[in-house]
Parts: sequence; structure tokens; C-alpha cells
Amino acid sequence: MAEPFYGTDLYNVDGLLDEDERLVRDNVARWVDDRFLPLVTEHYRAGTFPTELAPEMGEMGLLGTSLQGYGCPSMSGVIYGLAMEELERGDSGLRSFASVQGSLAMFPIWKFGSEAQKEKYLPKMAAGQLIGCFGLTEPDHGSDPGGMKTRAVKDGDEWVISGEKLWITNGSVADLAIVWAKTGEDASTIRGFIVEKGTPGFSAYDVKGKFSLRASVTSGLVLEEVRVKDSQMLPEVQGLKGPLSCLNQARYGIAWGAVGAAIAVYRASLDYAKDRVQFGRPIAGFQLQQAKFADMISEIVKAQLLVLQLGRLKDAGKHTPVQVSLAKRNNVKMALEAARMAREILGANGIHDEYPVFRHMTNLESVYTYEGTHDIHTLILGKHVTGISAFV
Ligand SMILES: Cc1cc2nc3c(=O)[nH]c(=O)nc-3n(C[C@H](O)[C@H](O)[C@H](O)COP(=O)(O)OP(=O)(O)OC[C@H]3O[C@@H](n4cnc5c(N)ncnc54)[C@H](O)[C@@H]3O)c2cc1C
Repeated sequence: MAEPFYGTDLYNVDGLLDEDERLVRDNVARWVDDRFLPLVTEHYRAGTFPTELAPEMGEMGLLGTSLQGYGCPSMSGVIYGLAMEELERGDSGLRSFASVQGSLAMFPIWKFGSEAQKEKYLPKMAAGQLIGCFGLTEPDHGSDPGGMKTRAVKDGDEWVISGEKLWITNGSVADLAIVWAKTGEDASTIRGFIVEKGTPGFSAYDVKGKFSLRASVTSGLVLEEVRVKDSQMLPEVQGLKGPLSCLNQARYGIAWGAVGAAIAVYRASLDYAKDRVQFGRPIAGFQLQQAKFADMISEIVKAQLLVLQLGRLKDAGKHTPVQVSLAKRNNVKMALEAARMAREILGANGIHDEYPVFRHMTNLESVYTYEGTHDIHTLILGKHVTGISAFV
């Protein structure tokens, strides 16, 4: 009998990576195994995130991975993706922490900030000494952020911001929030503001009762006539283009991350199926279970190739938001379906936190919804191929 194939790289995707890419990927993988996985169950049960790991993540170049200058790691898009894949193999909450910090909090400062803002915040954020969050979603406005109610009104050389943000990752542990607010009546007037923790009128509370992404802090932000200096406004962008370009960066990382979650549930269920004996033989020997592994490994291989090509396009400056939508939509759905199959393979153990499967499965329900729901990415693709918008 042939040796069983162990691993997930059935198409030698590894052979398409260069030495640096493999090195960073393997270092991150080791760190996740040694430093994060021993903590995850405790944090998942408690509904907390181990923020003390942030400086270590900074040292490894996991915060703002592909940003250049200002103390940022300056690595390629492919390396950023591989790192996100390994982080999410640990937990979607861990990858979310890095995504929000790098793509949603550091990126807008890096891309749209003033020189003074970049120098003040980016080096400390890259080092994990300052934590950021991204406040776009509101209680009544998720998929249509252009309808946001949060307002910023100019008063001399200050802005007065009032409103509420909800579902904000890292909100209550963040030292600073990127808050998006309308400065006039419509979405074309949206501007980004850097609001520091402790600013009078600004507070954050934790969202309790989550079944998903429990090892990640999710918060509401309250802004009651918060006064910030004009110098805290991001000067180089106006309109929805600002937040949407940040989301495009984060969605790219999510497309890679989902592959990591799928690999985690595939490995856990394969190990389990080989050990678990029913009717006198390992359940891995039953055709119904093998069909699930055939589906999982096929989809994982396709998803790996998809993100690697997306990463190569990104590094060549040629990727488009539609390609990112396709990859986020495809890979998150793929990972969620893999997690559901894996959970079934584990039987009753599939619902227990001794195994990582249910944790990944419930996490992926959030990943399916945030950064543009699956439906919204469907509509983006639909518009692209038909030329007709079905959004409204
Ligand atoms: C754990 C977690 C962390 C998050 N972190 C952040 C964060 O850090 N910062 C931030 O700003 N936001 C964050 N979000 C918010 C997230 O981005 C929103 O939940 C998401 O955009 C969807 O918005 P909504 O929940 O209001 O759903 P809605 O927009 O109300 O959508 C509800 C349903 O209607 C569907 N729908 C909406 N519009 C259409 C349409 N035109 N056609 C067809 N169907 C439609 C959607 O697909 C969905 O199925 C987070 C969410 C979660 C769960």
C-alpha cells in the first residue's frame, strides 16, 4: 500500500515560494504552535485576547507586515499573506488582531496620514506598543457604511465628533481608534480621524454574549461630542474610498487566513478519523468520510493557488478589488464548509473545545460576515461581470 499523504500541500505550492517566504512562514508557524495555541482555549472560554503577545507579534513583523518605512516590516504581500495563513491556523481572532492593527489602523495612517501622524504612531504600532482599532460599522449601518450617522463638525481648529460604532475589533483594548465620520450630509464627506483613548467623551464597552471569535475583543465605541485637533484628521482622503481601501487590504489577508483555518480543521479531523474506531475499523476507512477528505483537500489546494496568484499580482501592483472579493468570498466559504465537515467527522467530540474544530467553525461565521458579507462580495462580482449593480 502506498504511504498515506500527510499534509495539505498536494500540489507542491511550497515549491512556488522563495526561501524568504518559506522562512517567515515557518517562523510564524512555530510561534503560533509554541506561544499561541497553548493559550487559546483559556482565552476562548473567557472571551479575551492575549494582548501581551502584541510586542512579540511586532518583533516578528506581523503588524503592518507589508508597509514600508516608519519602523514597519516592509515585507512583500505574499509574505504578509503566508503570515496571516499561519495566524489563522491558530485562531481567526489572532489573525483578526493582526489584520485590524496592520490593515485597518496602520494602513490608513500610512496611506492617508500626515508626516507627523506617521512618525507619531506607526513605529509604536509596528512594535505592538500601541494598539489600534477601526470604527466604521454602526448599530444601524453595516453593509451600507455610506449611511453612517456619526458626524464630525468643525469648530475653529478642532472637530467635534458624535456618534456610535459597533462590532469594533480591539475597541476596548485599543490606544487609538480610526473613526470614520461624515463632515457633511452625504458619503462623499466622510473623513477619518485618529481618536486617542482617554479623549473626553470617548469610551468603549465590550460586546458580550458572542458565540464566535471569542478569543478576540469586540466592542462598541461611544463618541459624545469628542473634540480632536484638526491635526488628528487624516488629510489625504475623503469619501468612502478611505475606509474601503483599508478593507481591501484586510480582505486580502482574510483570503489567506481562511486557508489556515481550513488546514487546521482538515488536520484535526484527519488525525481523529485515523484513530477513531467504529464497527471494528478506523472511520477514515469508510467511504463517506473519505469523500469529505477528498472535498476538503481539493478545496484547500485550489484556495492555496488562488491566494498565491493574488499575492503575486499584489506584489506586481496589478491586483484589483474584484480579485480580492473573489478570493475572500471563495476561501472563507471553503473554510467554513471544511469546518462543518470536520465537525461532523468528530462526532460528539466535534462540539468540544478539546479539539480546535468547533472553535474554527464558529469563528468562520464571523469571518463570513465581516469585511463585506459573503452576499456583498457576490454582488461585487455580479456587478463586475454583468456591468449592472444589484446593490440597490
Ligand atoms: C466579530 C466581528 C468583528 C467585526 N469587526 C469590525 C471592525 O473592527 N470594524 C468595523 O467597522 N466593523 C467590524 N465588524 C462589522 C462587520 O463589518 C459588519 O457586521 C458587516 O459589514 C455586516 O454588517 P451588519 O452586521 O450590519 O449586517 P447587515 O448589513 O445588516 O446585513 C444583514 C444581512 O443582509 C444582507 N445584505 C445587506 N445588504 C444587502 C444587499 N444590498 N443585497 C443583498 N443582501 C444584503 C447581508 O449580506 C447580511 O446577510 C465586525 C463584525 C463582527 C461580527
